[in-house]
Amino acid sequence: ANAVRLGAIREIGCNVAPTPFFDAAEETGAIFGENVFSLSVMQRRLPKSVYRSVAATIERGERLDPNVADIVASAMKDWAMEKGVTHYAHVFYPLTGLTAEKHDSFLEPVGDGTAIWEFQGKTLVQGEPDASSFPNGGIRATFEARGYTGWDVQSPAYILENPNGNTLCIPTIFVSMTGEALDHKTPLLRSQSAMSEQARRVLALFGHRQIDNVVSYCGPEQEYFLVDSSFVNLRPDVLNAGRTLFGARPPKGQEFDDHYFGAIPERVLGFMHDTERALLKLGIPAKTRHNEVAPGQFEIAPVFERANLASDHQQLLMSTFKAIAKKHGFECLFHEKPFAGVNGSGKHVNFSFGNANQGNLLNPGDNPHDNAQFLVFCAAIVRAVHLHGGLLRLSIASASNDHRLGANEAPPAIISIFLGEQLTDVFEQIRNGGATSSKQKGALSVGVDTLPDLTKDAGDRNRTSPFAFTGNRFEFRAAGSNQTVAAPMVVINTIMAEALDYAATELEAAVASGTDFNDAVQQLLAKIMETHGAAIFDGNGYSSEWHEEAAVRGLKNLRTTVDALPEWTSAETKALFTKYAVLSEAELESRYEVGLEQYVMAINVEANLTEGMAQTTILPAALRHQTELAGNVAALTAAGVDADRTDLLAVTELVGELRGAIAGLRAAKAAAHDHEGIAEAAYHRDVVLPAMTKVRAAADALEGVVADDLWSLPTYQEMLFIR
Ligand code: ADP
Ligand code: MG
Repeated sequence: ANAVRLGAIREIGCNVAPTPFFDAAEETGAIFGENVFSLSVMQRRLPKSVYRSVAATIERGERLDPNVADIVASAMKDWAMEKGVTHYAHVFYPLTGLTAEKHDSFLEPVGDGTAIWEFQGKTLVQGEPDASSFPNGGIRATFEARGYTGWDVQSPAYILENPNGNTLCIPTIFVSMTGEALDHKTPLLRSQSAMSEQARRVLALFGHRQIDNVVSYCGPEQEYFLVDSSFVNLRPDVLNAGRTLFGARPPKGQEFDDHYFGAIPERVLGFMHDTERALLKLGIPAKTRHNEVAPGQFEIAPVFERANLASDHQQLLMSTFKAIAKKHGFECLFHEKPFAGVNGSGKHVNFSFGNANQGNLLNPGDNPHDNAQFLVFCAAIVRAVHLHGGLLRLSIASASNDHRLGANEAPPAIISIFLGEQLTDVFEQIRNGGATSSKQKGALSVGVDTLPDLTKDAGDRNRTSPFAFTGNRFEFRAAGSNQTVAAPMVVINTIMAEALDYAATELEAAVASGTDFNDAVQQLLAKIMETHGAAIFDGNGYSSEWHEEAAVRGLKNLRTTVDALPEWTSAETKALFTKYAVLSEAELESRYEVGLEQYVMAINVEANLTEGMAQTTILPAALRHQTELAGNVAALTAAGVDADRTDLLAVTELVGELRGAIAGLRAAKAAAHDHEGIAEAAYHRDVVLPAMTKVRAAADALEGVVADDLWSLPTYQEMLFIR
């Protein structure tokens, strides 16, 4: 084998970190939330009245009362310093989808040449990072480079441990000086309130007395790959773009399912244990872990939480995984399609709505009253998906997720909704039954009849559906593994606000005009099914028939990010988001701009990598091989032996193809500057990406003929199977 690759393989034994052992804190469960300034820590450390005020603020999701902020900050600082913290950071979630933080020391000079450790209420509540290096899509006027961050009290402060110094982290919103959202958290909080307000109207109609805020919950399932870092360090594509831009198919892929059903490899188990320990300390309820379909692919699913907290935790989980993987000699890949030809990675977004008083509103319940309420919430989701499938598609659009969606492993880009056989049948009966709840024979009477046990149905799921009911929650399966769950949750909350607003308005009017409430519900459900039932699809989402059928039903098929991005600024989107005060027109425009910019930059980086690797690594290897073959032919001919030129001619042809493809890619890149805005994005999709594919095709073919000792890029076989 090639000496460089051999070196990498030899290193692997050294990369194995000892499996961490189970320590005392883990045994007692005390490890959970050990590094979190949680409600229980606050209860112990704050005066009673202050604690009560903070707890109420958290429940309502409001900003911290300035009168108590100093006391909270001081207690937080003392707690943190006891745990070896010297600095604090406001953590925020800019539109790059990554996590950003700005660190400051607790140390304050006091002016007489000395300094004290201090953390004031105002620095807890608000920070002022320089916003100029974060994408803002034209929102930030150049003269006002600052933005500000503000603590989301529902997401507790926590300590990030590091052998070189611990940091107190405060999860925050990130807005411009004029108040526009520059992040994912701000609209998420706004959308939660909007959804809550409308959900409460519906609950009031169902006769509930004490109705608290309705919360959206989210449980993300995170898929990822682990690849040995010795290999990744030799792959500029994986290092810089997160995916392989070259690599011939290995002799064996995932066809035996042996990885999926096999035991978790020992070394990976050590990594998992280490990450889970870190997550538990941070109060992230890591619970489920298993192998995934592709070799080298795994999954972790923490228990669901309030969506804004789940979203922060999800970001923290990804950075924790990245860091701990390095300790174990792995690179953790969250890219949606790191390897061609094997499964990509998604992030299923499980969600529901509810609160402590009314429980999970997507739980079908076991009596006619609860069933009726469930059906209204469920029908609202059907309406939301039907009216705003394009927005859902948009919320998970990225250059990298485009490689996965619709590729017969992930849901198609057409957003339909799967309810399961029984629930579909219930809605069919309601739709056919028509106007009244009690008169129709054979039809289901809402508020009178009890629903069948729908959870039984949930086991038999339609894996091809992007949006599926799974017994007491929905699962949005199109989200990509590298994406924030905040983006889809913003859309889900907002379109639910609209649908619940509609439902409440219809029901209120019917009741006001004297209609029996159960009849009103029955009519509403029938009407929603009549108008929006087209979004329900229980068949095979991969089939070509579905693509045709979906078009007939008028469902959008936004195949790529470039097709989806204009949804940000459509008239319907603007009307929806401004009506519920989730994003202003300027904020929508800015998200569109940032989306375009991120898309173009992502492909541009890949194009640079493709050109560079092809020119400086792959072509030279091919030329050396060609020269060797030519030397062989020349030597044999000189010696008077018949020389077989087949291999030489074959490699010469491929070298020609590779050179031509590199030239083509260069030309494509050069002309990219002639385009702007959406045309530039479309150009990258239609011209640059195919030019890259051509380079790859020639390079991958060469991998199959060039002498192994000349090929220095780690192969698919090595990256996927050696660990
Ligand atoms: P599966 O692989 O069968 O889809 P997992 O156990 O891997 O299920 O993940 C299911 C996810 O759904 C977990 O994060 C779980 O906490 C979450 N979940 C369960 N119930 C709810 C609910 N009511 N609301 C939101 N998420 C939920
Ligand atoms: Mg799962």
